[in-house]
Amino acid sequence: MAEAGAAGVLVARGLARTYREGDLETTVLRHVDLSVRADESVAIVGASGSGKSTLLHLLGGLDQPSAGEVWLEGRPLARLPEAEIDRLRNAGLGFVYQFHHLLPEFTALENVALPLVIGGVAVAAARERAAALLERVGLGHRLRHKPGELSGGERQRAAIARALVGRPRCLLADEPTGNLDRQSAENVFELMRSMALETDSALVVVTHDLSLAGRLDRVLRLEDGRLDG
Ligand code: ADP
Ligand code: MG
Repeated sequence: MAEAGAAGVLVARGLARTYREGDLETTVLRHVDLSVRADESVAIVGASGSGKSTLLHLLGGLDQPSAGEVWLEGRPLARLPEAEIDRLRNAGLGFVYQFHHLLPEFTALENVALPLVIGGVAVAAARERAAALLERVGLGHRLRHKPGELSGGERQRAAIARALVGRPRCLLADEPTGNLDRQSAENVFELMRSMALETDSALVVVTHDLSLAGRLDRVLRLEDGRLDG
């Protein structure tokens, strides 16, 4: 099965996930196959509760499947030691969520620079790269603002900059525009799409907005625990 991972930057084969609480079992994913190429953008749509977040967590190595396997850059996540998974995830993936998850006490610049500093980049260089990226997402005039001093759309732009600052191979976004008004959602979605292209990052976006989903290269629907094109 090792060669299955070579087909794309992010590959899943036969993924299943059953939640167990006491004697209550909930099977959310039954058999999910997915292969995301390095240069493409993919939308995952599906009803609320269909397992979209569960799938994204598995793809991001944040949760373990009940069956099946995930390969990131050809490497099987589940068969690596924990520290190696962390390293691979930090270097290979960027995450954007419905709520920005920026640190409230830090400025936009510090929030975006932080992943680089944690990764060992010198502070001055990290700040420089963070400032350039914030400029690129239209926040050059908001570097010193804290998340509470930004609009919802601006916070998501900062979150996108933070997710891309480490030059991930793939950006995973879970309802990134779910908390925004129509116009902000359009703008943020388009920004995320173009920034992923520009930074050579694959893009996987969970959204329930079909008109936004339709702008990506492929739209996959999650239904009854399976993913169909
Ligand atoms: P979506 O993101 O598509 O709305 P989720 O992946 O969040 O769906 O959840 C899918 C189903 O799995 C839901 O029915 C939810 O209640 C259930 N679920 C999610 N997380 C857990 C958990 N930690 N324990 C038990 N059930 C869960
Ligand atoms: Mg969800």
